[in-house]
Amino acid sequence: MSFDLAARLAARHADNLYRQRPLLESPQGPLVMVDGRSMLAFCSNDYLGLANHPEVIAAWRAGAARWGVGGGASHLVIGHSTPHHELEEALAEFTGRPKALLFSTGYMANLGAVTALVGQGDTVLEDRLNHASLLDAGLLSGARFSRYLHNDAASLASRLEKASGNTLVVTDGVFSMDGDLADLPALAAAAKARDAWLLVDDAHGFGPLGANGGGIVEHFGLGLEDVQVLVGTLGKAFGTAGAFVAGSEELIETLIQFARPYIYTTSQPPALACATLKSLELLRTESWRRAHLATLIQQFRAGAHSIGLQLMDSFTPIQPILIGDSGRALRLSQMLRERGLLVTAIRPPTVPAGSARLRVTLSAAHSEAQLQLLLEALAECWPRLGAEEPAEIANA
Ligand SMILES: *Cc1c(COP(=O)(O)O)cnc(C)c1O
Repeated sequence: MSFDLAARLAARHADNLYRQRPLLESPQGPLVMVDGRSMLAFCSNDYLGLANHPEVIAAWRAGAARWGVGGGASHLVIGHSTPHHELEEALAEFTGRPKALLFSTGYMANLGAVTALVGQGDTVLEDRLNHASLLDAGLLSGARFSRYLHNDAASLASRLEKASGNTLVVTDGVFSMDGDLADLPALAAAAKARDAWLLVDDAHGFGPLGANGGGIVEHFGLGLEDVQVLVGTLGKAFGTAGAFVAGSEELIETLIQFARPYIYTTSQPPALACATLKSLELLRTESWRRAHLATLIQQFRAGAHSIGLQLMDSFTPIQPILIGDSGRALRLSQMLRERGLLVTAIRPPTVPAGSARLRVTLSAAHSEAQLQLLLEALAECWPRLGAEEPAEIANA
């Protein structure tokens, strides 16, 4: 027996599922340098254009000068510093929840929250299109794990009837690969009827959604009694890094005691918390970023419709173009790339089989003229894409 990695990799290639990492040689922004070429990018999650904002950079610099660079230890030892604490208080206030807890990444926040709340003898119910970190968390928890039909409260309700032990319902707020919104009022009502708790991971809603950027719970006006566990990530619209869980004082204390991905890791650099405090301020107050995004989303959808592209049911900055076949999705991505436009093809297993797509993401940093360039390129490439699967394409 031996590890036949070469065969696994070759099969991945043959299935048009091979992944490659474009090398970014510039800061995030609409105009980037990638693999030695200047490109116009429509694939980052920097929805509000804060990842390279001068005030956020200045806050990071000042934070490093004041607090040093490393977190030094885990939060429970000596790594929980004043900027972390201030950011937690600001995030609690922002989300309208009693408390918030800072995690190093969204992946860890989800693993930590789910595994601290349910275990053997309990039940975790997840939307079948949830982010991989939520699915992994459910599996890792040891609770009975079941997936309900996408965004379907009736499908959830039928599974809730068979649930035993403490039951946690888990959903993305904005679905990361489709851009649609969870039907939270219906999901929350179904959960509440069976005394289940609802965890919402709103990685893509904080920033773009809600009058103040408060995400899907602000959009629907849902409080702690509807969404007991609210997760946000800081690497997307916040433009920095890390994540948080917001909820009751008891919830946060429970996570501090029992969430292993919280306990057994070094705290994030305190200066990063300083940067996030600044980006939180910009995210809340500069509502022109949301207004401009809304204009771009309308412009994109109108333009894409007239080209005949198949869009998804989304009014968020995530605007996927559904292709189906992975080879064709790669080919369209490649054709755009030859024209200086970067849009990633998203393929299985990230999305269900047969639903490969180009995941177009819009940012408040894009201009209407830049978006027009994308639409013109799509109008040119789409009719030439052809139906047949090309023999082989090396680049994603
Ligand atoms: C990106 C993402 C995560 C992971 O967050 P990181 O901070 O990047 O680890 C979790 N959930 C969803 C829905 C995401 O899109």
